[in-house]
Amino acid sequence: MSEVKSRGHVAINVEECKGCELCIAACPMKVLSLSEKFNTHGYHTSSYIGEGCSGCGICFYTCPEPGAITVFKRWDLMTEKRFCPSCGVERKVFSRDSAPDISLCTECSQPVNKEKNQLSEK
Ligand code: SF4
Ligand code: SF4
Repeated sequence: MSEVKSRGHVAINVEECKGCELCIAACPMKVLSLSEKFNTHGYHTSSYIGEGCSGCGICFYTCPEPGAITVFKRWDLMTEKRFCPSCGVERKVFSRDSAPDISLCTECSQPVNKEKNQLSEK
């Protein structure tokens, strides 16, 4: 679905989000909304609806919380997947320049298995 239709993609690290809604108001594609779920700090957090992100990066520059938002400008070109224990399903992964050996989930920004799993190798 979103992996095919959208050029961009956005991952919200819910534990860094304070639910200020600035990114939701700023997004020109209107693909962010406030989740009904709480994070462990008691905030409702921003959530990506799953498709339609253009990769413009406006939400990233609007957010006052470092590390809360990661934007992938060419989601369509990202192909590597791993099993994410937090999501319970296989997700596309990425690494930060500051920690290139650590793979993170593009959905929840949590660490994923370093080695490719069985699903990825099929
Ligand atoms: S990158 Fe742009 S289109 Fe995508 S969620 Fe952020 S503001 Fe919206
Ligand atoms: S701008 Fe940042 S802190 Fe505010 S709701 Fe969006 S992700 Fe959360």
